[in-house]
Parts: sequence; C-alpha cells; structure tokens
Amino acid sequence: MAKSNSKESMKVEKEKSMILQKDMVGKLFKDLSMAKQTGKKVVYTFVPGNISELILSFDMLPVYPEINALQSGMRKLSAGYIREAEKYGHSEDVCTYVKCDIGMMLSGNIGPTGEKIPDPDLLLLSYTGCFTFMKWFENLEDLYPGVEIAMLHTPYQSRGEITPEMTQYMVKQLKEEVIPKMEKVSGIKYDENKLKGILENSVKTGELISKIFETPKNIPSPIDAYFAGVYYIGPINIGFRGTPEAVDYYQELYNEILLRIEKGLGPVTPEGVMKEEKFRLVVEGPPNWTSFREFWKLFYDLGAVIVASSYTKVGGVYDMGFMHDPERPLESLAEYCMNCYTNLNLPQRIDLLEKCITEYKADGFLINSIKSCNSFSAGQLLIMRTLEERLEIPVGFIESDLVDPRYFSYANIKNRLESFFQMLEQRKMFAKQKVV
Ligand code: SF4
Repeated sequence: MAKSNSKESMKVEKEKSMILQKDMVGKLFKDLSMAKQTGKKVVYTFVPGNISELILSFDMLPVYPEINALQSGMRKLSAGYIREAEKYGHSEDVCTYVKCDIGMMLSGNIGPTGEKIPDPDLLLLSYTGCFTFMKWFENLEDLYPGVEIAMLHTPYQSRGEITPEMTQYMVKQLKEEVIPKMEKVSGIKYDENKLKGILENSVKTGELISKIFETPKNIPSPIDAYFAGVYYIGPINIGFRGTPEAVDYYQELYNEILLRIEKGLGPVTPEGVMKEEKFRLVVEGPPNWTSFREFWKLFYDLGAVIVASSYTKVGGVYDMGFMHDPERPLESLAEYCMNCYTNLNLPQRIDLLEKCITEYKADGFLINSIKSCNSFSAGQLLIMRTLEERLEIPVGFIESDLVDPRYFSYANIKNRLESFFQMLEQRKMFAKQKVV
C-alpha cells in the first residue's frame, strides 16, 4: 500500500517545475499589487473560456476570481469570507466561489500572496457554460461603480457541435465589443501580429499539456491527473497561456515526468512518491479545496491514482484535440471558448469521460458532486448511470463543496470511498480468479 508517514518522507523535495510555477505566480501577484503605480490596467475575468492571449496583447494584467477563491479555501480563509458575503445578503445556495470572492473583496481584497489585489479597470465577462458568471459580475459591477464591462457570450454546444455561424457570432463580439473596450481601457491599439505571436506560444503550451495528460496511460501512472493535475493546469488558467514562461514551465514539467516514467515511478504525493498503484480512477467534478490535503490522502493512502479528470479540462480540452491556430487568431479564441468542458452538452461530456475510462484503462469512475456548483453537478447522476451501463464499470459518488468547509464531511467521504475501493478490490480479485 502506498503509505509512508515517516517524518523523512514528509520532506518532499520540490521539483524545478514547482519552483518555476511558484515564481511565476509570485511575480503576477507582485505586478498586480504594483499595478496602480506602474499604470498597468487590470482585467477581471473567468477561467473557463478565458481569452488571456487577447488580454496579454494589450499588456494588461488578468485577475481570476475563482483562483482567488480556491486559494482562500486552501488557506482556510474562505469560511470567514463566505460568512461576510452571507451577512451582506447572499443566500446559502449561492455558488461558494462567488461568496468567497465577494467576502474577500468586502474584507480588503487581499490576495493569496498577502498583497492587495487592485480594483478592476475592466470586467471581461466571458460567459462560458455557467449562468452564475453573469450574476457574479452583476454583483461586481455594483461593488465597483463606473468600471468598464465587456460581455463575450459563448454559445452553448447544445447540439454537440460548433458551426461556422457560432464562430462568426463570437468573432463579431470580439471585434465590436471586446477589442474596442480593451483599446479604450488600455490606450493601446489592437495589434493582430502581436496576438499571433502570443498564440504561437499557446500552441507550444497546448502540445506540451496534451503530452503531459497522456502520460497516465503508462502503468503505473507517473502523475495523478486530478490532485497534481490541478497544479499542472495552474499556469494556463491564471493568465500565462501564450507566454514564454508557460512554455518553459511545461517543458520542464514534461521532462520531469518522462524521467519518472523511465524510472518506473508513480505520482509524487505530499508525502513522497506513491509506492504502489492499486486502483486507476477517472474523476468527474472539481475537488474540495478547504480540506484538499486530507481529501487527496484518502486516495493515495489506499493506492488510488486518478488517471484522468474532467476538471483539468475546464480551461481547455487540448488533450482531446483542440489547439489554437495563430493564423486564425480571433476564430481560434472563439473556438477555444466554445470547446471548454463547461460548454459541452451532457452527451459530449459522457462520451469524453467514456473515452478517458477506456483509453486510460481505469478500474472505476468516481463523481465528486459539488453542492454549490450547478454547472458541474447538474446531470451527474445521468452521467454516472450511463457510464455504468455502457462500460459495466464500478461507479462511486461522493459529495462535498468547493470552498465552504461546512459541506466537507471527512468521515462520510471516507466511508463511501472505502466501500467503493472494496468493490474495486473484489472485482479485481474476481477477474484474477477467472484468468487462473
Ligand atoms: S457554479 Fe460552478 S462553474 Fe459556475 S461559477 Fe460557480 S463554481 Fe464556477
């Protein structure tokens, strides 16, 4: 069993890619804290369907409220922020990312590195797949009176396809709504060649990410594509997609993973390298952030590795075929938004998960259903039952929340996971007996 509790094993040496990422994030938040002095303009926008390349082409700095909320969750600050937002009038049912963000703003807007996050110069509402995004920015508009707003509506893939008309609809909005607002706020003229250059880096980044998330096809998997995967997608989701720093980071990470494959090593956990891979799982739904370490430990203590997850595709489905095209810069940004996981319809999500389970040779499928995230939770039972029937695979269902610690019940989740793993164990034994 992959359990290692000695003090020695707790001292996990940081790999170079981890240091690179820490430096990148540190620099971004430093730049944000200095934005008013340096004159850099600040754009608040969302992770799914984010168009960071366009923001970068205007030399502006992005802020992602979901990232601040999840960081607050990991730093045990979200309960207080959520309380603030509830006192302000937000009900218990509102998405806890929203309440955490608004609570943080009402408490001084201090970001994850302890530095103040500046007020927005532009709210870029790239509305992709989740209606809550619209309500969220309506609230921010009230809290930052006079702020510029640009709306980019992404058509939902209700029929499971992207038509040329859908792309043109988005390009029109980019040309007539988003770019003029960005020119006005930044005082910089739109430069298509600059955008193309940035997109060339996005392609390199996308290709590396695809290769990284393909590596769990190895047995044992060299990475955990969910618990470590959420760190791996960090740079593309916080505004570095399209930068040379992101290309360097993903190249370094990929090299480190290749080395692990060469040595036959499993994933690195907070307590060292996992010794034995007992179960391979595909997971649907975001993780819980308030007890992230305890949550992850429930898996690696029992030798369970997540080989693919839907959540790591929330900022782009590169490993499922999408790639930016610098020769069609605006069309490509539009297609990126429409291809995000939260913008896929239910049959598409089911097909994608089926592909993951089959191609990554998963032993089971697990859903972490998030109490306050309708965008992920709606339809999850249908997803689960369909995959169970189609693939005759053991399925499991647990419930928690993103950043509200009131909805993380350790004992309850542990119980359910233990029964799920028992079921997987029995099935494996049965399969072995059949072979003998
Ligand atoms: S409901 Fe879910 S997808 Fe929508 S904003 Fe909240 S966490 Fe994000």
